Amino acid sequence: MYINGKWIETNQKETIINPATEEAVGEVYIGGQKEAEEAIQSAHQAFKTWRALSGNERGKILLNIAAELLKAQTPIAEAITNEMGKPIADARREVVSAAAYLEWYGEEAKRVYGEVLPALDTAKQLMVLRQPVGVIGAITPWNFPVSMITRKLGPALAAGCTAVLKPAPSTPQCAIEVFKCFERGGLPAGAANLVIGDAEAIGKEMTSNPIVKKITFTGSTNVGKLLMRNAAENVQKVSMELGGHAPFIIFDDADLDDAVASVIGTKFKNAGQTCISTNRVYVQESIKDEFSKRLAEAVGELKVGNGMEEDTDMGPLVNEAALLKVEQQVIKAAESGATVVTGGSRLEDTKGYFYAPTVLAGTTDEMTIAKEETFGPVAPIFTFQTEEEVVERANNTQYGLMGYCFTNDIGRGMRMMHQLDYGMVGINDPAPIVPHAPFGGMKESGIGREGGTSGLHEFMEEKFVSIRTNAKLF
Ligand code: ADP
Repeated sequence: MYINGKWIETNQKETIINPATEEAVGEVYIGGQKEAEEAIQSAHQAFKTWRALSGNERGKILLNIAAELLKAQTPIAEAITNEMGKPIADARREVVSAAAYLEWYGEEAKRVYGEVLPALDTAKQLMVLRQPVGVIGAITPWNFPVSMITRKLGPALAAGCTAVLKPAPSTPQCAIEVFKCFERGGLPAGAANLVIGDAEAIGKEMTSNPIVKKITFTGSTNVGKLLMRNAAENVQKVSMELGGHAPFIIFDDADLDDAVASVIGTKFKNAGQTCISTNRVYVQESIKDEFSKRLAEAVGELKVGNGMEEDTDMGPLVNEAALLKVEQQVIKAAESGATVVTGGSRLEDTKGYFYAPTVLAGTTDEMTIAKEETFGPVAPIFTFQTEEEVVERANNTQYGLMGYCFTNDIGRGMRMMHQLDYGMVGINDPAPIVPHAPFGGMKESGIGREGGTSGLHEFMEEKFVSIRTNAKLF
C-alpha cells in the first residue's frame, strides 16, 4: 500500500491468482479500515498544498506520470495479463490508453475556467469559480485495472483534489505499478494514496469519513447502489459507472463484414468482460442466417489461450465465479430453446477459467441472458422485423450505457442516435471511446461522466461570488 508517499507493509498478505494458470502470481499486503483512515488523513493534509499549485504545475506532474507509464509499458502490461488474463497486446494498448487520460487531463488542468456573469447592478462583479471538491475516494474494477485508475485519478488530480484509491482485489499489482509511476513522476506525498484489502471496510470508511467529499466508483450496479446509500449519510457526491447490457443492432442495409468484425470486437475483447461489451445482437430477420453463419465462422477463428502468448485473441475469465455465471446463462438459454451455434462450454482439457467463444441463436427477450449482464464471451442473436420494434426492445432494460447500431441509411442512423436510451451510441462505430468524450450511462448504468471536460467538472464545485463595490466604473 502507498500512504503519504511511503510504501506500507501490514501483517497480512494475500496471494494473487493468474486466471490462465490458476497459479500464484504474487502476494500483496492487505489492510482495511485503519489504513483507509490513515490514507484519508494523508490526502487531507496533502490537499492544502496540492490545491495551491497552479493548474499548469499540476498538469506538468500528470504529464510526467503519463511518460513514466509509457516507459513502464511492458512490466505494467505483464501485470495486467498475469492478474486478469487479457491478451498482452490488449494490455499494452490499455497502458497507452491509461497514459492518454493522464495526458489529456494534464493538458486540461491549465484550462479550468470560471465564468463572469452580467450583473443587474453594474457596480457588482458576478463570478463563478471552479474549485476542487477536496479528498475523493476511488474504487476501481479489475477489467481495466490500469486505465480505470487514471481515468478517475487523472481528472481528480488535475482539478486539485487528492485521492485514496481502492483497486479490485484481483488486480492490486497493476495498481502498485501505477502508483510507482506516480512516485517516479513526482507526485507529492499524500496526493494519491493506495489502500488494498477488505473492500467492505475500506468502502465504509470512505463513505462515512466526513473528510471524503466524493466517491467515484466503477463496478457492479449492486455495489454501486450500496455505496450510494452509504454516501447519502454524509451527502457525499458520487460518480457511478455501473453495469451495461449493450444492444448491437444490425439492419439489413448494413455492411455485413463490418458488422461481423465489430461484433467480434465488442463481444470477445476482454472475453466480453467490459461494461460496454455487446450483450444482445439484434439482427434484422432477412439477414439472420447469413449473419449467424459469418459470425460463427469468425468466432471459430479466435485463438483462446494464455494472454502471455502473443497470438492469443481471447484469454480466460477472471475467476471461477465468472465462469460459473456464464455457464449458467448459456445452460438456461439452451433449456429455454436457444440453439448453440458454436462454443457453449468451458474448455475442459486445460487449467484456467476458459470459456469457449459462443454464439447462440433463437434467443428471446424473456431469457435471463437477455436481461442479466453476461460479462463473458457469449453472443446471443435476437431477430427483429422493424426499426420501431427494435428500438423498443433495445431500450427495454434497466441499463443504458452503450448501444451500437449498424446501418448504411444515414437517416435511420440519426433516428437511432436520438431514440436509443444509452449514454453512448456508436453508429457503425464499434470503438468510439476517447479520453476527451464523456463516458457514462443512463438509468441504472450510472450517474455522472468520466472523460472530457465533464469528467473534470465531476471533481469540482462551482462557487458563485458577487463582489459589490461603490466604484463608479465608467
Ligand atoms: P465485480 O463483480 O465485477 O468484481 P464489484 O462491483 O464487486 O464488481 O467490484 C468492483 C469494485 O468494488 C472492486 O474494487 C471491489 O473490491 C469493490 N467492492 C465490492 N464490494 C464492495 C463494498 N461493499 N464496498 C466497497 N467496495 C466494494
